[in-house]
Amino acid sequence: METWRRDALEITTFFVDAKINNHMVKKVGKLNICGACGFKYKTKELASKCEAWCTKNKSCNLEITKHAIN
Ligand SMILES: [Zn+2]
Repeated sequence: METWRRDALEITTFFVDAKINNHMVKKVGKLNICGACGFKYKTKELASKCEAWCTKNKSCNLEITKHAIN
């Protein structure tokens, strides 16, 4: 199975896009919340990546959500 390889490549290229489209991330206290799925992150960058991915793919990416805070 090479699915993870393809995903990793997509994430790499996707992160570049994410820096441009970070307008829905909500800041609550010290946490940054993905406006699409609601996962919480310590950094705005991670929340932006999650949000961009969620918005574009209509699903969450494990490589991103593993950084989420409960
Ligand atoms: Zn998300």
